[in-house]
Amino acid sequence: MIIVMKSGASRADIDRICGRVEARGLKTHLSEGEDRTVIGVIGHDPFSVKDAFTHDPSVEDVIRITRPYKLSGREFRRSDTVVTLPNGLAIGGDEVVIMAGPCSVEGEEMLLETARAVRDGGGHILRGGAFKPRTSPYAFQGLGRAGLQHLVEARRQTGLPVVTEVMTPSEVESVAEIADIVQIGARNMQNFDLLREVGRHTRPVLLKRGLSNTIEEWLLSAEYVLSQGNYNVILCERGIRTFETMTRNTLDIACVPLLEELSHLPVIIDPSHGTGRWSMVAACARAAVAAGADGVMIEVHPRPDEALSDGPQSLTPQNFAALVPQLRRVAAAVGKRLAEPVRTGAGTAVAG
Ligand code: PEP
Ligand code: MN
Repeated sequence: MIIVMKSGASRADIDRICGRVEARGLKTHLSEGEDRTVIGVIGHDPFSVKDAFTHDPSVEDVIRITRPYKLSGREFRRSDTVVTLPNGLAIGGDEVVIMAGPCSVEGEEMLLETARAVRDGGGHILRGGAFKPRTSPYAFQGLGRAGLQHLVEARRQTGLPVVTEVMTPSEVESVAEIADIVQIGARNMQNFDLLREVGRHTRPVLLKRGLSNTIEEWLLSAEYVLSQGNYNVILCERGIRTFETMTRNTLDIACVPLLEELSHLPVIIDPSHGTGRWSMVAACARAAVAAGADGVMIEVHPRPDEALSDGPQSLTPQNFAALVPQLRRVAAAVGKRLAEPVRTGAGTAVAG
């Protein structure tokens, strides 16, 4: 249910209505548009709200949200959500952002080398997994907390904000303290305790689509985060399982225009996991930007043949640097632009 306030409703009116809703044991979420405020009412039995609030003079309308996802849908918030990082980089507006870096943080030297290549090539955010969700328990599992410290050092030296995955609720605190964006991996898209935990923090969340999940299930996972009060959610399509086996996954580019209709949340495309082949990454990244994605996430490794994970889908720094001007031209062709390059020595985005 949403309560649409009249355009002249005062702060006191909004507080009063929220107070009345909360007194019924329901939760409120505010969406403050330029023109009017919408109060989202979440709880088990919001139907009585309709009768209780339609007569209030500050209320324009009370509308039932028909879709199962509430706060992540356009019905609740019409304008796009823009996630702004501490260095001012905005994700979800008119600018396209490029997240790039190794699949795994393999050590400090290789991370610094990759981070410099990402920054010099025109990337905006450094990616790199310290906690790795590997299919086999015998595969490289990531450097854990030591890897987080390497990311901190890479950010300090390059000025690039960092995005890294968190796998368990108990690690959320330490990852959120360090990362500019906390990543929820495809395999954890429906780890509901983990989703609730990142929802209790304020750090932006990059929520990857599950390997075999529908768009509705994905938005419901976003809902777990939003309903805890963290509205800074970025959706990331990374390919889904289909009958096709020539590519690692099937990249669902159509989700970009679909999500534009359904949700106000930013959408990023990951063509690396989406294809599993480095030779297809550039074309799919261009397609993502052409389709209207708010950004791309690309795996880059200085020596892909030696990578401890996902070498076959990683771009060399040279190939990455060649792709960025192409993305700039595609962005311009669809009325957007690449975000400004990160300036050298921009400094630490987050304390630590
Ligand atoms: C990753 O981004 O490193 C990763 C593990 O991706 P996914 O969760 O999409 O498989
Ligand atoms: Mn990977």
